[in-house]
Amino acid sequence: MDQSTHAWIAVRAVALLEDDGSVPELVKVLRPQVPKAAIGAWIPDLEDAKRGGAKIQNHVLKIGPYTGQGESKRFTESRKATLDALGPARQFAQFIQTHGGGLDAQWWQEPYKGEVKQPGQHVANRAMALSTTMIDLLLLGDRTLADHLPGNVSFAGDLAPKARTTEEEAALHFFMLSHFVADACMPCHCDARDLSDYDRGVHKEMEKHWKQLIGLAFSKARLLATGANAAPVTSDGLLKAARDVDARVGLAFGASVPALVDKDVWYETINLCRASFVLASIIAPPSSYPYGDTRTTTYDKLFPATSAELQEAFDQTVLHDAVLNVAIVWKHVWRHAIPVKIRSTGH
Ligand SMILES: [Zn+2]
Repeated sequence: MDQSTHAWIAVRAVALLEDDGSVPELVKVLRPQVPKAAIGAWIPDLEDAKRGGAKIQNHVLKIGPYTGQGESKRFTESRKATLDALGPARQFAQFIQTHGGGLDAQWWQEPYKGEVKQPGQHVANRAMALSTTMIDLLLLGDRTLADHLPGNVSFAGDLAPKARTTEEEAALHFFMLSHFVADACMPCHCDARDLSDYDRGVHKEMEKHWKQLIGLAFSKARLLATGANAAPVTSDGLLKAARDVDARVGLAFGASVPALVDKDVWYETINLCRASFVLASIIAPPSSYPYGDTRTTTYDKLFPATSAELQEAFDQTVLHDAVLNVAIVWKHVWRHAIPVKIRSTGH
């Protein structure tokens, strides 16, 4: 996803948690910081943020047929298990049920596996690492941040005041985390075929299409208030602009943000990657675009004028679930910084 789509997803997730109402203190931390923290949503795609050698690997989990032997097959879930792992709230599940008829029983029985080029480097690990670190950062919160987080942190008073996490830092990291969760929801990030490579047509054109749907309110120039007619952005203005996108795309968010379905952020992100691979295989069926094929195609060929309904459903599914999944993971992180015995008391 491009810069403005990543920014919209994160801001819309704040609005979704505001409507959800189950983590009001998290919303109180994030909401005022939205204009300054928005940059965190696209920072991970910038060259300097990829120091350490992982480059794009930490933003993808490219899945394809597994040709090896033994038990290390990664993507072997049945259709039912895949849908169960998504739960009832995610539109990915509805899309697979409505539009997945082209993937027959044989397709679901084949073994697939993520192509991890460097051990440990893929988007689920990145999301897990950052979310775990963020719980630590929240526990080290300064007085203002700690006031929002129920429960006592026994060692907080022993820390140098400047070593403690500010609300600004926490919000920036929440927005950075949103990037990796959203990337896992982008089908091209989870499809090992050449047609899903960024510079081979479909991927870039799909992102350009979403950028146009999102509109200019989330462009870097607007958010950073640069340029001749730059007006300062406000939290109220941004949250309203984020909600306004719903009508343009045809998005309908549910009333509540559920908990993770699986054990932790790693398993959850792996499941999202599996589902993204299914979506990629629905819109570009392997019967027409075999795995391992080096030929590419164009966005217009995948979504000709005659398939406007499928295209619209695909846009709605990916954008809805990207926002929902960010809200789900944020809520999980926040609640896990709260002692277990008081976690269920409405924070
Ligand atoms: Zn990325």
